[in-house]
Amino acid sequence: RAKDGGRNQLQFYTSEMNARVTERTLIEGHLRNALVRHEFVLHFQPRIDCATGRVAGLEALLRWQQPELGLVQPDRFIGVAEETGRIVEIGEWVLYEACRQAKAWQDAGLPRVPVAVNVSARQFRQAGFVQEVRGALEASGLEAGYLELELTESLMMQNVEGVIAAMLHLKAGGVRLSIDDFGTGYSSLSYLRRFPLDYLKIDRSFVRDMLHDAPGSAIVRSMITLGHSLGCRIIAEGVETNDQLGYLTQEGCDEIQGFLCSRPVTGEAAGELLYADR
Ligand code: C2E
Ligand code: MG
Ligand code: MG
Ligand code: MG
Repeated sequence: RAKDGGRNQLQFYTSEMNARVTERTLIEGHLRNALVRHEFVLHFQPRIDCATGRVAGLEALLRWQQPELGLVQPDRFIGVAEETGRIVEIGEWVLYEACRQAKAWQDAGLPRVPVAVNVSARQFRQAGFVQEVRGALEASGLEAGYLELELTESLMMQNVEGVIAAMLHLKAGGVRLSIDDFGTGYSSLSYLRRFPLDYLKIDRSFVRDMLHDAPGSAIVRSMITLGHSLGCRIIAEGVETNDQLGYLTQEGCDEIQGFLCSRPVTGEAAGELLYADR
């Protein structure tokens, strides 16, 4: 019996591994044609200013509408796109499309808020990234102050000097910079103060655990204090309940993003959110 169990288990692992390889191959194959077939679309999630209750910005989140696979979420394909290097051209499309959409909302007379774009490490490291950002702004006609770039902690902690130089370049051009998923990487506090950051986004795992015990709430409180001492505005990610909102507001968090306010929505629906807010 034990033997049988062992064998079944082995089979189970093997087929699970096969499934993973198949999924990866499938995604990798379909990704090759996704851009030319116009299968990507941006959704947008608003973040709300705790003081005014108004939309303070919109984060562009990539969605992939693949005819055979259906709507594919980023967790299933961003990693593969990073490994294959395809993220570079996809990222360039996201950058341009987010700027284009932001400018279109402004031209329609809607409230002007920054649009945030997630930047992958591979994309950021490529020579000419700063130029690519400038190109997207010029092509769309969007003012630099309405573009925000979200960089992850792990991106920022590799080749720190090079990252700081590129960030200073972007900053000088007027672009806003955020540190995304804060707390999940290995930030060196001595480096942190050298990055020209406008926003610190507290990762949603901390928000989720925040009200379960005293250490959980203390961690979030100190992240807010730390971020403020670095001169950042604080954005809490993944806010789902009124209790979480209450605690964050009490502790001086500046903006909140999460399902409590809105899920990521289509560009059209995001325009309606802005319209309702005018
Ligand atoms: P992220 O940048 O941290 O984006 C926030 C993620 O949290 C989004 O997942 C959003 O839908 C989700 N979220 C927002 N509010 C809540 C909430 O209240 N509860 C829960 N449980 N989740 C919430 P999404 O859209 O699936 O994106 C996942 C990740 O994929 C993003 O994390 C980002 O790292 C990456 N990503 C998305 N779009 C792009 C892109 O255009 N380029 C790159 N390089 N990465 C992207
Ligand atoms: Mg983000
Ligand atoms: Mg995040
Ligand atoms: Mg994330």
